[in-house]
Amino acid sequence: MEKIKLPPTITVKEFAKRLDKSVSDTIKILMDNGFLATINEEMDFDTAAIISEDLGFKVEKEEPKKEAKIAGSPSELSKMLTEEKKGVSKKRFKKRPPIVTILGHVDHGKTTLLDTIRRTKVAEGESGGITQHITAYQVKVKGKEITFVDTPGHEAFQKMRARGAGIADIAIIIIAADDGVKPQTKEVLESIQESKLPFIICLNKIDKPGANPEKVKGQLAELGILVEGWGGEIPIVEISAKQNKNIDDLLDTILLVAEIENLISIFDKPGLGLVLESHLDKRRGPIATIIIKSGTLNQGDFVIAGNSSGKVRMIENFHGKKVAHATPGMPITVLGFDHLPSAGSVIKATPKDKLFLKQRKTTKYSEESAKSSSPLKRIEQSLEKEKYKKLNVIVKADTQGSLEAIVQILENLEIEDVIIKIIKTGVGQITESDVLLAKVSQAILYGFRISTSITAQEVQEKEHVKPRHFDVIYHLVTDIQDEMKKIVTIQEIRVDHGFMKVLAVFKTGKKDMIIGGRVEDGKILKGDKLEVKRDDQLIGTGVLMQLKKGKGDFSECNTGEECGVTFLFDGPAVKIQEKDKIFAYIIEKK
Ligand code: GDP
Repeated sequence: MEKIKLPPTITVKEFAKRLDKSVSDTIKILMDNGFLATINEEMDFDTAAIISEDLGFKVEKEEPKKEAKIAGSPSELSKMLTEEKKGVSKKRFKKRPPIVTILGHVDHGKTTLLDTIRRTKVAEGESGGITQHITAYQVKVKGKEITFVDTPGHEAFQKMRARGAGIADIAIIIIAADDGVKPQTKEVLESIQESKLPFIICLNKIDKPGANPEKVKGQLAELGILVEGWGGEIPIVEISAKQNKNIDDLLDTILLVAEIENLISIFDKPGLGLVLESHLDKRRGPIATIIIKSGTLNQGDFVIAGNSSGKVRMIENFHGKKVAHATPGMPITVLGFDHLPSAGSVIKATPKDKLFLKQRKTTKYSEESAKSSSPLKRIEQSLEKEKYKKLNVIVKADTQGSLEAIVQILENLEIEDVIIKIIKTGVGQITESDVLLAKVSQAILYGFRISTSITAQEVQEKEHVKPRHFDVIYHLVTDIQDEMKKIVTIQEIRVDHGFMKVLAVFKTGKKDMIIGGRVEDGKILKGDKLEVKRDDQLIGTGVLMQLKKGKGDFSECNTGEECGVTFLFDGPAVKIQEKDKIFAYIIEKK
């Protein structure tokens, strides 16, 4: 039996490679198994293992890869922070806001407390109608800022907490006064003590009739945690997160602890921070929520975060407002990464040195050459295009200065969902290899105040690549914008087919459901995109994988007919119920 090693998570592309199968075959196998995945999507070990075993492989677990050395793993963050302080003049340190996290047993009120503080303390009008849950925010108390971070239950953070290399400077241990110390409270207390992170005990739910703060203090004393008033010095505050009681006391206590801890950072150095979470935005590309621990991150900086890198295209503060810089303690979102940086990875602004440029170029070239030589090119590209449309360009210029100016403008250009992908930049004449690269990457080749070499001229005729020459930046940019607009005009239009009412549920799988129903209007077709609505609210989306009438397979079902459909979720799975309505449609490109 052939062996296959699988990591904890693996992309479809990598999985195909290890199976020694083409990506299209692998996607098909996955679909047959009820997993709708695109080439760059990640799947977990269990999924990959089940499929590999079905295909006759013997599966072995692979140890997770160490994070790229250059970026440092989460546990290295504190080392890096300590290291950078060595030999630095005291003058360069400035006070910074404390970063606070709330920990505790489930249901003791972490979320409520985070929400109450945000609701009542984030300056009115500034909150910009933020209603969704956010990972980090800042409040201003008596002219001083405090940063709150909701540490996700992510494995990387658990490890960080255990190693004391966490992002927080101060922890709030929340304990419901009517429920007392629970197993998770003990766990948290142990790891906090181990890591020597300063903490505040927060007794919550004191509004409840069963609340008994003294009893909880006694339980803490038994664990060797002596709070103020109980012979110790550990700060304790009694609050009601729900009724917004004594929250000011809690905030004052945080400021007091921060004062004692003397939280300072160097501001005038390249930014260093931690990725709290990241996601792919269809229009804006990879977006990461980051907290800066030291230095300053600027728009335009080159950054490395785990295995991802890029140039900071935009920084937004937690209000969603664009800012040019971010300093220690600030929670921000950053745009401009080439891949999604993973949560828990260290982000580091890096001088635009040779090493970094080389790294960027080699990954770009290898991506491009892999695509050009592979028969999968079209599949990859069409899947990639689904995320956001890109205009590939190559820019050659007369000087480094003009090149940088052009690149800076191009990297900030965005028209609707079209972004620019710079395949290559360089100073000097347009060469033969530029022309060939433009050909294989389907890029527009721009020359700024330069000529084309003789050999390149010969190749360009043969390859039908026509470099575009400009000597005014504005004209070059206008030309690119016109090209972007041409792409925008390819519109995606939704064409509704019809809807059915659910009459019965036959199977509830992890990612799919088989349901029976009657088409009430129009028709539904195999392969259609689907939306489930309950009381007119959209609750889930997916694809119609299989359509049956009686025992036979059909490709469509019309008004008045009953059929059974296999609904494969392409987002979070939901439980479809009787009486839900399922709407079928397709997306047409015009
Ligand atoms: P988490 O699991 O720690 O995030 O806890 P939640 O914030 O979700 O709170 C759990 C439950 O306790 C919710 O039903 C809250 O409404 C309730 N709760 C939280 N804080 C208080 C409080 O101060 N008083 C009362 N009476 N209920 C609270």
